[in-house]
Amino acid sequence: MSDTIFGKIAAGEVAADIVYEDDDLVAFRDLHPQAPTHILVIPRKPIPTLNAVQPEDAELIGKLFLAAAKIAEQEGIANSGYRTLINCNAAAGQTVYHLHLHILGGRPMQWPPG
Ligand code: IMP
Repeated sequence: MSDTIFGKIAAGEVAADIVYEDDDLVAFRDLHPQAPTHILVIPRKPIPTLNAVQPEDAELIGKLFLAAAKIAEQEGIANSGYRTLINCNAAAGQTVYHLHLHILGGRPMQWPPG
């Protein structure tokens, strides 16, 4: 659980600005926000990348997205619009190898992303 900084946050060993948590998930504000609202949702289970998700994780991944939508509602960005994304491996910009779903909102988003 404590192999990465996110594992430590999930274990309560490192402080974070937590906005939601339950038995399976923790969501907290990104330390270096890229938008007025920037939240990361992680499973407590230490899955390193999207590539490592297994069929038995299907319910957990569903919960991850359901929580993201609930958090967007709580943060007041659900109607204006927000982006969710998962960076997978280095070329996509992944820096923390504990699966995390970014929620970004509060400003217009560009497409394509850089
Ligand atoms: P990645 O680039 O998709 O792996 O995203 C990692 C994110 O974690 C980046 O947006 C970082 O700013 C963020 N981050 C790294 N360490 C911490 C922390 O200790 N607390 C909150 N966010 C963090």
